[in-house]
Amino acid sequence: DLHRRLNLQQRDEIGELATTFDLMLDRLERAFERQRQFTADASHELRTPLSIVTTETERILQRPRTTQEYTQALSIILQEQQRMTRLVGDLLTLARADQGQSVLKRERVDLSEIVVDAAEDLAHLAERNAIEIRLSGLDELMVWGDRLYLTQLCLNLLENALKYSAQFGKQVEVKLSQDQSYARLQVIDQGPGIEAAHLPHLFERFYRVDQSRTHTRPTENASLPSGSGLGLSIARWIVEEHGGSIQVRSSPGEGSVFDVCFPL
Ligand code: ADP
Repeated sequence: DLHRRLNLQQRDEIGELATTFDLMLDRLERAFERQRQFTADASHELRTPLSIVTTETERILQRPRTTQEYTQALSIILQEQQRMTRLVGDLLTLARADQGQSVLKRERVDLSEIVVDAAEDLAHLAERNAIEIRLSGLDELMVWGDRLYLTQLCLNLLENALKYSAQFGKQVEVKLSQDQSYARLQVIDQGPGIEAAHLPHLFERFYRVDQSRTHTRPTENASLPSGSGLGLSIARWIVEEHGGSIQVRSSPGEGSVFDVCFPL
């Protein structure tokens, strides 16, 4: 009897082991698939600006050109190179995110100072799109965090608000507030809004609502710089590394609110 019971127990354990092993394999396979997809998307993203640079250079070298033509070609090439530089920077950030261990500094930083700096950095984009950036709420909001990454978070959210609400709204508001347990940063625009079906995917890597509008040539639509679809995934990573959460509320025709909370 004892023999039989031991046998059964062993079989149970082997069964459990097999299940665990299956689950692990499953997770590994999914991780590989995500990695494969990421590499494919990243290569695809780099190929577009690279091919524009090549085509543009070949075209301009075909025969002698006027100074104006050279200037125009060079500015296209420069813009594509800036785009690639930024893309590579974003990819490096995500590679760091994937390493698992935290790369963030923890220092006392004033979130309102960071917001003011980000707004100054993007003043040219606001002006070009005829949008006023309004800062409201607190003049000082101290949190524990990494100044550089928090700045990048603000830049990503504010830049989106400015670029997507061009031709829709006149104002983008960045609002800071605080209660007992958390600090809150809201970026509110009067832009086109986002359909509910897209909201759950917005923070995924390379996800864009309107795929066709994403790579506009510099001369085609200067007010809507093309994006890589990485900004919000980086934003979410930064927020989560700070122990916070990010949410979006939006509906078509009513603008969007990106709402970030950090524990105090
Ligand atoms: P991108 O580089 O395309 O801006 P993001 O990850 O920052 O990438 O954003 C993903 C997508 O979410 C964008 O392509 C855009 O479709 C949508 N989106 C982000 N912010 C806004 C906003 N404020 N208003 C409308 N749509 C937005």
